[in-house]
Amino acid sequence: MKDYIIDITLSSTKKQKPQSDQLGFGRVFTDHMFMMDYTEGKGWHDPRIVPYQPITLDPAAMVFHYGQSVFEGLKSYLTKDERILLFRPERNMQRLNLSNDRLCIPQIDEKLVLAALKQLITIDRDWIPTAEGTSLYIRPFIISTEPYLGVSPSKSYRFMIILSPVGSYYKEGIHPVKIAVESEFVRAVLGGTGTAKTAGNYASSLKAQEEASEKGYSQVLWLDGLEKKYIEEVGSMNVFFKINGEVITPALNGSILEGVTRNSIIQLLEHWDIPVVERKISIDEIYQAYSNNLLEEAFGTGTAAVISPIGEFFWRDEKLVINNGQTGQLSKKLYDTLTGIQNGTEPDPFGWVVEVK
Ligand SMILES: *Cc1c(COP(=O)(O)O)cnc(C)c1O
Repeated sequence: MKDYIIDITLSSTKKQKPQSDQLGFGRVFTDHMFMMDYTEGKGWHDPRIVPYQPITLDPAAMVFHYGQSVFEGLKSYLTKDERILLFRPERNMQRLNLSNDRLCIPQIDEKLVLAALKQLITIDRDWIPTAEGTSLYIRPFIISTEPYLGVSPSKSYRFMIILSPVGSYYKEGIHPVKIAVESEFVRAVLGGTGTAKTAGNYASSLKAQEEASEKGYSQVLWLDGLEKKYIEEVGSMNVFFKINGEVITPALNGSILEGVTRNSIIQLLEHWDIPVVERKISIDEIYQAYSNNLLEEAFGTGTAAVISPIGEFFWRDEKLVINNGQTGQLSKKLYDTLTGIQNGTEPDPFGWVVEVK
């Protein structure tokens, strides 16, 4: 294996760590971070771990103006016997490069970045929370840094990884959310940036999210950008439906983000011989299934919540209550199994878990 030289500057002070039961999401950061720079003609250079600190950028840095930036999200867990685990991290690095390609950002060396991530976590390992449901959230991201107001790909970039201890998504146990079907705004269109994890997708989703939350719904169900008919995703999660014993998730159609959790859920279901299909599915079909009492469960999947059961859809002034607003059996089983594999308490027949040594 290639040896990567990553320069390390340790912090001379250590921040106070929050209590495990006081952890929220993404507000507290560890003592160190990883950085590396890209300069045209030189490529990516100076990979380094440094004390966590603010960065200085030129106000003309292109990321501020045209949003050329990509990110990833994954988690690390500490097992009872103090082993550090990552869940399928190579998939996140691959996806980062897919996003890079779409945003005209130069490709990163996935192996170097993974090696850097492992070093960073090892240095900040005391920050990995251990209480049930907690983890260390990992945020790799890239921003364009060239000070230039012309519209073209930047000639310089910065790659960073920051770490944040996060609390249990479900403090009172896994529970369903209410979702509003979005019929005005769209998240992505075919040919757009829906398959990339890029900042702009999130900026453009805020308005729908805000309006839904004012009505008491925690997320929106996105429909396709052309006909507003076919189901795409829910909030920033992929979505699954269990209809008459079969699990259905929208096929990757060129505007849906391919989640690592989505892929894992499909593999788990296949492993259990539960019928699962990826195909186009319309909101009308969901409504039909609901009306015929065949819509058994619905859930979102993503790194943050892992599984988010859906207890209600609001569509055309009607409330579609699923499974009496309770968490379905399959949703619960998937949640328990996948989080168990991730935190090392369940067997990992797929070889998904990577130990940081
Ligand atoms: C990140 C993301 C997901 C979920 O992906 P995971 O790899 O499972 O965390 C789904 N949809 C969107 C839009 C996302 O940005």
